[in-house]
Amino acid sequence: MTAGMPQPRIDTSKPHPARVYDWLLGGKDNYPVDQKVGETLPEEARGNAARNRAFMHRAAAWLAQSGVDQFLDIGTGIPTEPNLHQIVQKVRPEARVVYADNDPIVLRHAEALLTSSPEGVTAFLHADVRQPATILTRAAEVLDFDRPIALSLIALLHFLPDDEDPYAVVRTLVAALPSGSHLLLSHGTADQHPELKQETEAAYRKGAIPLRMRTRSEVEPFFAGLELAPPGLVFATDWYQQEPAPARERSGFYVGVARIP
Ligand code: SAH
Repeated sequence: MTAGMPQPRIDTSKPHPARVYDWLLGGKDNYPVDQKVGETLPEEARGNAARNRAFMHRAAAWLAQSGVDQFLDIGTGIPTEPNLHQIVQKVRPEARVVYADNDPIVLRHAEALLTSSPEGVTAFLHADVRQPATILTRAAEVLDFDRPIALSLIALLHFLPDDEDPYAVVRTLVAALPSGSHLLLSHGTADQHPELKQETEAAYRKGAIPLRMRTRSEVEPFFAGLELAPPGLVFATDWYQQEPAPARERSGFYVGVARIP
């Protein structure tokens, strides 16, 4: 789906969220401007990124095991193995996955997201979540909107300030999905470490990246009208621990998986 698209220029003069996140995960697809933001963030940021990723792994596998075979992942990030399609196609080789991200660097690496199992499909859209209708139209070329779809918005919505109305964006996306679909969401928060809030937001602000961490009561409305699966809206570390729970780690992310009735 990326064939024939012009490759937008990578701007290395200012930091980008995808590249800062890649740095936090120990990746190599970032530039000195991104590293500078990463280094200015509190120490906890790296562990938080890894724990957010672990939530994605667990939740995507759980959904695939529950029978979901269509995924729309917006705010994909720079490919990091295992990517979502690798997790779900391991369980359901026929799974169809549409990725979307607005950063040109993710488009540049899209081939790494297109290594579908032979039975399944993966596609990449260079698109902005603030234009949900466009994403839905293009995703419908690959996904069947008459059958359940899992929509994943992982570590994305804290990059949408209040005046861009992230709640309306999520409502539009969710409204397009049939009953039995799921919303898979994680969102940055300082509820467990309020003392780091200012430092974290300031580090991103210096890089001209607006970061809007939200409290529990500000994240809850994203799930309005939906049925949260156990254990509900929790910190990343508290979601679906298969092993005896490790010593409680602090988390900078609220996470939840909800069924669309
Ligand atoms: N979901 C991945 C990556 C999170 S990093 C994970 O959790 O591991 C956040 C991603 O959201 C980045 O890749 C960034 O480019 C993307 N993003 C930020 N604002 C966006 C927007 N308005 N539209 C689409 N993608 C966006």
